[in-house]
Formats: sequence, C-alpha cells, structure tokens
Amino acid sequence: MAQNGSVRKRGPNILVTGTPGTGKTTTSSALAEATQLRHIIIGDLVKEKNLHDGWDDELDCYLINEDLVCDELEDLMEEGGNIVDYHGCDFFPERWFDRVVVLQTDNTVLYDRLSRRGYTGSKLSNNIECEIFQVLLQEAKESYPEDIVVALKSDTIEDISRNVASLTDWVGSWHPAS
Ligand code: ADP
Ligand code: MN
Repeated sequence: MAQNGSVRKRGPNILVTGTPGTGKTTTSSALAEATQLRHIIIGDLVKEKNLHDGWDDELDCYLINEDLVCDELEDLMEEGGNIVDYHGCDFFPERWFDRVVVLQTDNTVLYDRLSRRGYTGSKLSNNIECEIFQVLLQEAKESYPEDIVVALKSDTIEDISRNVASLTDWVGSWHPAS
C-alpha cells in the first residue's frame, strides 16, 4: 500500500492523442504489444458501450458522452497500465495520466492519409486545420502538467518505430510513486 492508502498501480497510464490520422491507433497498438499495457480505443469503447448521445449528422461522428466515458474508465485507470487512444484530451481527470503523447503529422502527409480514409469536404478541412493550429498540443498543455506532455512527429513508418521504442524505454524505467 502506498502512503495515501491506494494500491500501487500495475503500470503507468499513457494518453496518446492527436488529430485523426496522425497514427494514434497504429502507435498505441505497437506500444501495447511491446509493453503488455492495455490499449483502450475510446472511439470503439463509446460505440460498444453506447457512451454517446446519438449520431451527429453534421459532424459525421457520435456525440461522445464524456461523463459516461470517465465513469466507465475510472476503475481501470486507478488500476493502471493503460494506453488511452483518443483525439481529445481535455475531459479526462488530470490525475489519470503519467505521460501524455501528442502525435503530429505534416499537413500535406495528413491530407493524403485522411483522403485515403474517405474524408472529404469540411470533415477533411476541419481536421487539417486542427493539425495546422496544433489544437491537440495546446489542449494537452492546458490540461496536464508541462513535464508529462510530449509532442512526437509521426510522418513516416520510421517515426512510428522510433516513437514506440522511446515510449517502451520510458515504460520500462517507470516506477510507481509511493
Ligand atoms: P489515428 O488513430 O490517429 O486516426 P491511425 O493509426 O489509424 O491514425 O493511422 C491512419 C493511417 O495512417 C493508417 O493507414 C496508418 O497506417 C497510417 N499512418 C499513421 N501514422 C503513420 C506514420 N507515422 N507513417 C506512415 N503511415 C502512418
Ligand atoms: Mn484511431
């Protein structure tokens, strides 16, 4: 037992965030495989457990219910050892995360990736704008202590390998605060 009475975490909690298409799911999957941490894809969880308030035709996505998502995850996050994969970061409790990774991609590269994924019109341009204005990095810096937020470039496959390797090292040297 730690001094505050809570049980030691089984591993760190890492948030992997960034504009859609920057490689969150690819990077998180590889990191989960390398570290045996649990990969939680918020978008999938929201669909599976109905943690939303319906479909938004205009935004072309589910209207996530942030309170339901946080309630659903509380026990797992307290237990530790999670990689949370989501394109937003301002509604999770600050205390949940030991590391917040913001993936960033050159906007012409991102444009091609999102077009390939079938994004067009305002859905495409809104996401490119989100990346150009570094919305997720700003959001992360406003929501978490500066020293746990890291921005990582994710333009190429080599970037993914390097990011996974450095995050795996970080997980290996992580110790629970007592
Ligand atoms: P996200 O989860 O952030 O939306 P994905 O991991 O689903 O992004 O990646 C979107 C697409 O872009 C996938 O086809 C993936 O293979 C490709 N991709 C992502 N990151 C990179 C990268 N750093 N280099 C090359 N391809 C990438
Ligand atoms: Mn994804």
